[in-house]
Amino acid sequence: MTDTVLPKRGRTMKPQSLELAGRPLHPSTLMMGYGYDPALSEGALKPPIFLTSTYVFESAADGKRFFEGIIGLRPGGAEGLVYGRFNGPDQEILEDRLALWEGAEEALVFSTGMSAITTALLAYVRPGDIIVHSAPLYAATEKLIDAVIGKFSVGWMDFHASAGREKIEATLRAARAKGRVSVIYLESPANPTNELVDIEAVAAVRDEVFAGVDEKPVIMCDNTFLGPVFQAPTRHGADISLYSLTKYVGGHSDLVGGACIGGKAVLAPILALRNTIGTITDPHTSWMLLRSLETVQLRMERAEANARTLCEFLRDHPKIERVGYLGFLEPGSAQRGIYDRHCAGAGSTFSVIVKGGEAEAFRLLDNLTLVKLAVSLGGTESLASHPAAMTHLSVPAARKAELGISDNLVRVSIGVEHVDDLVADFRQALEAV
Ligand SMILES: *Cc1c(COP(=O)(O)O)cnc(C)c1O
Repeated sequence: MTDTVLPKRGRTMKPQSLELAGRPLHPSTLMMGYGYDPALSEGALKPPIFLTSTYVFESAADGKRFFEGIIGLRPGGAEGLVYGRFNGPDQEILEDRLALWEGAEEALVFSTGMSAITTALLAYVRPGDIIVHSAPLYAATEKLIDAVIGKFSVGWMDFHASAGREKIEATLRAARAKGRVSVIYLESPANPTNELVDIEAVAAVRDEVFAGVDEKPVIMCDNTFLGPVFQAPTRHGADISLYSLTKYVGGHSDLVGGACIGGKAVLAPILALRNTIGTITDPHTSWMLLRSLETVQLRMERAEANARTLCEFLRDHPKIERVGYLGFLEPGSAQRGIYDRHCAGAGSTFSVIVKGGEAEAFRLLDNLTLVKLAVSLGGTESLASHPAAMTHLSVPAARKAELGISDNLVRVSIGVEHVDDLVADFRQALEAV
């Protein structure tokens, strides 16, 4: 009988290099294998789903060392796998691959987009602080900041997503005069108006207004709508990019998940809080997201091309007042300037403003056949919804008006179907309007 030497368990090496022949590899290439060594899993080409709640230590000293990493006594996090609330192989591979899209040091994955946002904010705010945010925000995020975190004596001030430098500066100075500003929270493009935030300008103003302050506010930016393919906020001055992985990254409308991407130091308090409260995603969802990441660029590029063709059709349609689409920003406008600096593509989520009111918008929605009537976005299938009556129903009328969420606005998320069929569906549905 020959002695069988079992490979050492745990992910101790990065088998795939980030370079080939001195040239950096593209994220779309690295999604198929980076961060996973088949030799550690019986030669399986693809990472197995590691359904286990806990991990066996080789020695007591190992266990002690790993825990030192978990509780922060040792920099760099845990050196090995410990317990399902802290980490797992599927989650770690997913985190390594996600970070590549923004060229960032680290990513952390969460059970949902909202648990990522909640964990990130709670890790940084203290009673008496002010959160400064761009507006509008995803409705649950607004509620989180106002009604949930607000309960702990944390206030907020906002500026309009499309605000220029002066307005951003005035808001930050006013906030600074009121209390400690711990977080500047952005969402770009904003939901559902698609306005872009000048992340670069926010970072420059932050550095100016808080020069000499020990703990400068952390800039977080929700990148769900264009990330990870068309925008990387951490390359433009944001400290942390936040994601609902439920949308384009998951991409098949069959899971919920979230992520924070950024530098190790800025993510450290968020990781510590995730370890404590357990907002990490599960192994099965992580595995699904690994599969999704292999096609995220293909899907997002196809959806983007589809959306562009469809928007061109809609723009010229006599029953359409306007199309709120990032690909149609006026050359020379401030928004176009931000787009050219920050975005590599217009994505596939946009607004269609029909001529008329709620009745006309509803008729369009009720007559679409291929395009399903549902909230959410970023899936392989196209969806349409009515923000004023659905996702933003609880927003007071005055605020809706201020944010441009009108009764004749239809929100559309385009998928990867054949574009001729999508145009045909909108054409026939508009005939019924
Ligand atoms: C969907 C969404 C979220 C919340 O994500 P969940 O995965 O549903 O928790 C946050 N921000 C934006 C912009 C979203 O579209």
